[in-house]
Amino acid sequence: MSGSKIRLFVEHPLGPGQSVPLTPEQAHYLFIVMRLGVGADLLVFNGKDGEWRAEVAKAGKRDGSLACREQTRVLRPPPDLWLLFAPIKKARTDFIVEKAAELGAARIQPVQTDFTNSERIRRDRLQAHAVEAAEQCGGTFVPGVADLAPLSRLLDDWPEGRRLLWADEALAGPAETLAGLAPGPWAILIGPEGGFSEAERTRLRAAPFVTPVSLGPRILRADTAAVAALALWQAALGDWKG
Ligand code: SAH
Repeated sequence: MSGSKIRLFVEHPLGPGQSVPLTPEQAHYLFIVMRLGVGADLLVFNGKDGEWRAEVAKAGKRDGSLACREQTRVLRPPPDLWLLFAPIKKARTDFIVEKAAELGAARIQPVQTDFTNSERIRRDRLQAHAVEAAEQCGGTFVPGVADLAPLSRLLDDWPEGRRLLWADEALAGPAETLAGLAPGPWAILIGPEGGFSEAERTRLRAAPFVTPVSLGPRILRADTAAVAALALWQAALGDWKG
């Protein structure tokens, strides 16, 4: 293991001198698995107050607390980008959530489409994957994972002012740059292994807030497509530009 400090997500306000109670799982991880003792240093973040250096104040087998010292990073929320994707096999769905958190999505919305193969998701498990991804990539923000919702309902209730970048496999071919797209709130839509149904394509084509895009000449698996679309969007409109 490298000497890099442990980063831990906590659901507690952070500030100078703030005492942060630990859950039994966190205590187990820090004191049993990682063998930290009283006085040890680590980094904590809660998605709101940036990243802080903290010290172990109390270390029990099933509980403990940290004392917050100083801020090491300010909060850096990602651009206002949602990822809508149709859940696929468990490991690939986990991958999509992990990569979306790393690549800087602000919100992750699983969608039920006509050809979605998986009808259920474990929202809490996916949220835990987003937290883990933020812990390991140095992020100070954790995208919320929403409950599975039907695509048709999301389109019915589409928020005003948000644009939707639709990765349309029917456009597979030379991909245009996204650099000309207007900045502002966006969402990306990635379909399931079976792609989109004719009814869905008609609906999406007619929606004024939708921009269909190609992701290149090959048909990508949904998990690859999610990563490619997030990268293209971040490079053209997001926080990769500096
Ligand atoms: N079964 C479909 C492919 C689905 S790929 C077919 O054979 O046509 C899964 C999802 O990834 C698609 O719904 C789309 O959102 C995205 N995707 C994959 N390759 C793409 C490409 N070249 N251009 C745009 N979107 C793509």
